[in-house]
Amino acid sequence: MRTVVTGGAGFLGSHLCDRLLAENWEVLALDNLITGVDSNIAHLMKHPKFRIARADVSNYIDVAGPIDYVLHFASPASPVDYLKLPIPTMKVGALGTHNALGLTLAKKAKFLLASTSESYGDPEISPQHEEYWGHVNPVGPRGVYDEAKRYAEAMTMAYHRFHGADTRIVRIFNTYGPRMRLNDGRALPNFVHQALTGQPLTVYGDGKQTRSFCYVSDLIDGICRLMQSDEHLPVNLGNPQEITILEFAEHVRKHFENAPAIVFEPLPQDDPKRRCPDISKAKRILKWEPKVGLEEGLGLTLAYFKQEFAKGKVAAR
Ligand code: UDP
Repeated sequence: MRTVVTGGAGFLGSHLCDRLLAENWEVLALDNLITGVDSNIAHLMKHPKFRIARADVSNYIDVAGPIDYVLHFASPASPVDYLKLPIPTMKVGALGTHNALGLTLAKKAKFLLASTSESYGDPEISPQHEEYWGHVNPVGPRGVYDEAKRYAEAMTMAYHRFHGADTRIVRIFNTYGPRMRLNDGRALPNFVHQALTGQPLTVYGDGKQTRSFCYVSDLIDGICRLMQSDEHLPVNLGNPQEITILEFAEHVRKHFENAPAIVFEPLPQDDPKRRCPDISKAKRILKWEPKVGLEEGLGLTLAYFKQEFAKGKVAAR
């Protein structure tokens, strides 16, 4: 069995490559490395069943030979990244998804789209279930990501309904773990980078906005189950343990010897006030729920970040 993973050098894409190789798949990763990094897949370079090609999937995708599965994970995914790269973000969600679906059809493969809880925007209901249509500001700064992913979902369903393509859509909620970039601007990498460089942790707004953090191994397990299922409509995957960002910062600071102070900075525009997945559908159809709690996952992730920092592998913010 042979699979293409777009965004294979990214945080989630590289963990997915690891898992698929462990299950004996042959993996071709495609990445243009605008947010992915070589070091995420350095350990795979000598693996006989792994190959990476530097490619921007927003352009035509040309792959020789048979393919059984296309997993479309290419996209900037941190708010700071997609604000810096608004047009590549829109292109990979729109053109990249179209190209990945075209490749799927040409190869008679199956397809899985990495979508996002951002499809729900700043939600008016919590927790968010899959039937909720969302509350997105199309012309706000986050619109480039949210609308591109909503378009990607619509295009995936169009290929399923019109072409009979065998597709799946996962809506991924906040996920953390080793291989997040310490300079990607998201809450956890920011807090850790600040703690390691002796700066206070920056909590945006009053810190009462919530998120629900899923450890990466749980998420990858859910994705593999979804790959094997016959569900074509979106499925939420995330950890329903909801926490305010201020509480989250408190958790993180406790892991450092000279616990850093917390300072408050302005809340970015359209920052969702609540985010928590309703995972009853994943529980029911995939028999999946997360197993790694926040303290255990934070321990594993901080150990990784501290090691990378000691190696001097941290790019300046
Ligand atoms: N956040 C924060 N301080 C930071 C970075 C982020 O308080 O240094 C907040 C951000 O405003 C949001 C939450 O943490 O409310 C999660 O932000 P992140 O960028 O990780 O991802 P999001 O869930 O917004 O996509």
